[in-house]
Amino acid sequence: MTALLPRPDRYADIDLEAIRANVRQLRKVSYPAKVMAVVKADAYGHGMVPVARAALEAGAAWLGVAHISEALQLRQAGIDAPVLAWLHTPGSDFDGALEAGVDIGVSGWELDYVVAAARRQQRPARIHLKIDTGLGRNGSTAELWDGLVAEALQCQDEGLLRVVGIFSHLAVADEPHRPETDEQLQRFREAVAVAEDAGADLEVRHLANTPGLLSRPDTHFDLVRAGLGIYGLSPFSGQLPQELGLRPAMTLRTRVASCKEVPAGQGVSYGLNYMTGTPSTLALIPVGYADGIPRVATGGPVRINGTTYPVVGRIAMDQMVVDLGPRRSDEGGSSLLGAEAEIFGDGTGGGPLADDWAAAAGSINYEVVTRISPRVPRLYRNVEAAADSALVEGAPQTGLLSKLAVPGAGA
Ligand SMILES: *Cc1c(COP(=O)(O)O)cnc(C)c1O
Repeated sequence: MTALLPRPDRYADIDLEAIRANVRQLRKVSYPAKVMAVVKADAYGHGMVPVARAALEAGAAWLGVAHISEALQLRQAGIDAPVLAWLHTPGSDFDGALEAGVDIGVSGWELDYVVAAARRQQRPARIHLKIDTGLGRNGSTAELWDGLVAEALQCQDEGLLRVVGIFSHLAVADEPHRPETDEQLQRFREAVAVAEDAGADLEVRHLANTPGLLSRPDTHFDLVRAGLGIYGLSPFSGQLPQELGLRPAMTLRTRVASCKEVPAGQGVSYGLNYMTGTPSTLALIPVGYADGIPRVATGGPVRINGTTYPVVGRIAMDQMVVDLGPRRSDEGGSSLLGAEAEIFGDGTGGGPLADDWAAAAGSINYEVVTRISPRVPRLYRNVEAAADSALVEGAPQTGLLSKLAVPGAGA
């Protein structure tokens, strides 16, 4: 029997030193622009508070989130760095944002809500006006821009708010050859000029996301909003993280839950869509779509003892199966029961990447890491900058780090 380390049966191993190194690399590429670490969606599944702390330690100047509620979680964890939240509804907690000193992205209708909150809270809001330069999602249309700027500056004169930023979001920066980025850049420059001509005294103008910051220095302005890159993933198809000086921070691991010999013609998993072609050994991998593995991703890679196998048959809620091939009973005690199975990681030694699962699922690496579900514990490596590599169990929602170091986990 394999001696089992007291680790969870499945976990996401988050290397905070990789986060720090990625932030430093992105700062270098973006210099002299500053870096906003985008930690929305629980830091793309990596755990918002631990990642935010690591990013700030490595010199990120700002944090970015979609929701005010996410920004408030950062504040509750004691993080006092500048935070911008940009996606709201009329029910969003603008009062809470003001009270917590959270900057608010304003595309149009939010202005009235922010002003009302500023009156109630008797403190000025800090807002970043957003222009839609072509993405067609949030942001003011060019048509309404001059009016929005004028109204915001009027409110600024009344002491209700301060316009600290202008921003926009790129649509196709992951395909650097496309001309639409030039058009967006041109519209952004015009929108900034309108605001500055009207008297706005801006702290930050920001446009670039990770693909923009990596491929288009002309999109950097004062600040870049980096999400994917700080997690060490590549936004470009056909370009690996290490080619960009990045290292994936999340490794998803479990252990083989069963290893058994079956005859040829054994059907595997619901629908019996896969049949063994020869007498085979099947290994059961105890993660499934409830853990965030996409159900459609049959064929996705699992690394066991240095060999990568594709998942066969349907991925179920809790589990999936790999076919280890012809029977190995002749190899004696070769059962892989309890062996470590890596679903994806940083790719060292040819190991699987989140990108491989994205390909199997017809999706993108962003979605693969972000969907890893709360059922999967996050364990943090290198919690203290430049510390040893013991794993610490994290409670990302609260930012509490219990000191449950797992012995023997350094690797
Ligand atoms: C999510 C998001 C980002 C980060 O994008 P990446 O491609 O992950 O760097 C930046 N800006 C806005 C407005 C976003 O919604």
